[in-house]
Amino acid sequence: MMWWRKKRERLMNADDNSKPDEASVRDRKRGALLGLAIGDALGSAVEFRSRGYFEPVTGYRGGGPHRIEAGEWTDDTSMALAMADSIAEAGWDLEDQARRYVDWYRTGRYSVNGRCFDIGLTTGSALHRFEETGDPRNSGPTHERTSGNGSIMRLAPVPIAFAHHYPQDLRTLIDRAADSSLPTHGSSQCVSACAAMALIMAGLIQGETKAMVLDPKWPAWKGLAAYHKLDPLIADVVAGSWRKKRESEIRGSGHVVACLEAALWAFDTSKTFEAAVLKAVNLGDDADTTGAVCGQLAGACWGESGIPESLLTGLGRRDILDPILNRLVP
Ligand SMILES: [Mg+2]
Repeated sequence: MMWWRKKRERLMNADDNSKPDEASVRDRKRGALLGLAIGDALGSAVEFRSRGYFEPVTGYRGGGPHRIEAGEWTDDTSMALAMADSIAEAGWDLEDQARRYVDWYRTGRYSVNGRCFDIGLTTGSALHRFEETGDPRNSGPTHERTSGNGSIMRLAPVPIAFAHHYPQDLRTLIDRAADSSLPTHGSSQCVSACAAMALIMAGLIQGETKAMVLDPKWPAWKGLAAYHKLDPLIADVVAGSWRKKRESEIRGSGHVVACLEAALWAFDTSKTFEAAVLKAVNLGDDADTTGAVCGQLAGACWGESGIPESLLTGLGRRDILDPILNRLVP
């Protein structure tokens, strides 16, 4: 995007009565979901590897623990596509979302190779529970110990579908983001992480600057507080926890707090989509998910137009991804 368009948009956003222009909102919505898949695919080759003990990732690479092809993606993207497909077809229906997660788990729908090859422990047991009870609001465990990054990794469809509620009706956005966690991750850390991340992404999609949405004084945080009490650990992240840490203290772990912090750190300290996502995946460990979370944020900020052509064309199974993306963002 040309610099003057960005600047004009910022000027427009200073005026509460104006709306950001539709084409760039659409570009950032598409960027958010594509960014998720790209971060996932870039990280998949080094998932479970210790930071500093692998050849730094600079582009798509085949192999990794699931032995998939370069550019192919994992559970993060499969679950995001299941939710995106559900929202596009059924509107907001948590039970339908959970049924599609079960479809992915049982039949390999939404997977690059027709198999569910990498379901997380918490997600697996929650989906079993959903199959028994049919209750998506109570199938995700609520114990603190189960605070994995499995619900923020798939979040993008929520801010994409409901960003237009920002800033005037935050309740719809926040409630749906929080609810989206419940089928698999019911702990307060996970639910709050979804609420906070959806707000940041909605702000970005609607044209707020990166500096604005990462500022603890962003007025939207007060708006969120009216509908949702953030878990204290997530409130720390929103307050900029990563800025007080040395780079060596940032971890690409599977814990939701560490993962959100790492993704925000990589996003905050980078000037382009590509730099942010590579920084995230090169933390190793749960690299595909750190990449997917950072990719959502970076894609919502810089848009599809800010993603290098090679990352867009090298992304695997666009035949599965594109029809769903096109229905979610017509
Ligand atoms: Mg994964």
